[in-house]
Amino acid sequence: MISTALSAQKIERVEPPSWFTGMKDTGLQLMVYGKEIGSFDVIADYPGVKVTKLVKTGNPNYLFVNLDISSSAVPGSVKLTFTQGKQKLVHNYPLLGHPAEPAKGFNTSDVIYLLMPDRFANGDPSNDNVDAMLEKVSRANPNGRHGGDLKGISDHLDYIKDLGVTGIWLNPFLENNQTAYSYHGYSITDLYCVDPRYGSNEDFKNLVSKAHDTDMKLIMDMICNHIGSGHWWMKDLPSEDWIHQFSTFTRTNYRVSTNMDPYAAKSDADLSEKGWFDNTMPDLNQSNPLVETYLIQNSLWWIAYFGIDGIRMDTYPYPEKNMMSRWAKSITDEFPGFFIVGEVWYQQEAMTAYWALDKVNSDGYQSNLPSVTDFPLSLATHRAFNEPDNWTDGLARLYNILSQDFLYPDPFRNVIFLDNHDMTRFFTETGMRLDIYKMALSFILTTRGIPQFYYGTEIVMEGDKNRGDGYLRGDFPGGWPGDNKNAFTGNGLTTTEKDAFDFTGKLLKWRKDKEVIHTGKLKHYIPENGLYVYFRYNKNESVMVILNNNEKNSVTINKDRYAEAMAGFTKGYDVITGKTVDDLTSFRVGPKTAMILELK
Ligand code: CA
Repeated sequence: MISTALSAQKIERVEPPSWFTGMKDTGLQLMVYGKEIGSFDVIADYPGVKVTKLVKTGNPNYLFVNLDISSSAVPGSVKLTFTQGKQKLVHNYPLLGHPAEPAKGFNTSDVIYLLMPDRFANGDPSNDNVDAMLEKVSRANPNGRHGGDLKGISDHLDYIKDLGVTGIWLNPFLENNQTAYSYHGYSITDLYCVDPRYGSNEDFKNLVSKAHDTDMKLIMDMICNHIGSGHWWMKDLPSEDWIHQFSTFTRTNYRVSTNMDPYAAKSDADLSEKGWFDNTMPDLNQSNPLVETYLIQNSLWWIAYFGIDGIRMDTYPYPEKNMMSRWAKSITDEFPGFFIVGEVWYQQEAMTAYWALDKVNSDGYQSNLPSVTDFPLSLATHRAFNEPDNWTDGLARLYNILSQDFLYPDPFRNVIFLDNHDMTRFFTETGMRLDIYKMALSFILTTRGIPQFYYGTEIVMEGDKNRGDGYLRGDFPGGWPGDNKNAFTGNGLTTTEKDAFDFTGKLLKWRKDKEVIHTGKLKHYIPENGLYVYFRYNKNESVMVILNNNEKNSVTINKDRYAEAMAGFTKGYDVITGKTVDDLTSFRVGPKTAMILELK
């Protein structure tokens, strides 16, 4: 029993808030926060659990408690007793059962639907404003909070699944208790708590379960590089070197080429790694072993407690890169096959490939990342379809990117996309042309890689980065009570939007069961005269994709040029029109058109 003299003394936080039996790594380091807790001793009274070490920092209000949880420990409540002289505090620490369901992972059979929780659907207007949260709802402000939430996503899981995708990636939804611009979720103020304006941790757990029940997977967006300036640590940092500190605000130079540049000046590399991402985003010091362990355990906790299927790691090249490599390895060691895609935003294939799994780099670096974001291919799609074709421009851009795939040990692991929440939407970028959208979608769903698809693309939502990021993340129509247009039901959609929706769904559903697109080899031909032709093939099947980039001219496809890929086939089933090409020796493809032929 705690004496009244100690009423001011209590344990404010223990993180992770719970842990699991049966982990391969039997070590666990608790961050314990409370007034003067650093001067306490700790014992564990629980079979199979013992305290192995206490780590103190310069701040007396923190105590790091290393535990060993042996393989014989069973789920229960671990009694931790903190003592200092006659003072005694007890914390009952939940030890939960090891998650039985192994993560399903992601591969080329998947298509990922990316959505921003604040902007998809408002399933519960009662949580739009929460007393304890600083920023209130303001739907008229493109950079404000609009009220979307986890319930909105849960309510519309059927819609997402019916589109033909197999998984969803949610932009971050943990607490962002910032005064402004908090809707995007990348300024986390509590790494163990869902933002109450989106729902509760249990709501998220239920969303994961519901997704799994409908055979959908879920990717969680995480950030190891930075936190939000409103994070509770910022009022009482665990140690001086918990974050990178400067005498005046110092921003990263965003030049993450310093990670692999053999000639990089140390000052440039330091600024890239240690500068703050924004003035509201303090940069964590991943070189502090306590920070490293905290971040690794945090990721493991979300995987084990919630059963998520993948992580999209934000700003992968910005933190200390060797720590990130250990972070990725810790996760896949603990959960083999677990999917992680690192956001590596580079213009160049070579720099992207530096981060690829099993890539042999001259400096010996190995990221341990199962997958990387393929920005070079995405940027190529933004230009390939709306410029004249020549040696380097037009469809040659796609060919030139893919011909550099020798840089990747396995380019099929790359996550590929037309756009995402940080980019001008493809439809806007390419002049709002449905014919171009259809060509580009046909490409992205049939070339190599794991396609990712940004919410609203199916109804060709617009979004121009020049107007501000808020415009890239528009409210999904029908997600809010009273919306006059409803994409979930189709009510109020324009002819163009309906056309895009039908086309998108048709291709996604076709791809879902098309094994040759998932695992088949790729063979492509050098683009000529605005025509790019490639094949996806295996022992049993072959799919021929023809992209005719010409504005006005139909082209004749001559079988002779593609003889090595077309030998033995006489007819083709046109996936988009449903018609059959009866004579493959010579047939025509219309201008600004993609034709996808299953060869027979
Ligand atoms: Ca809401």
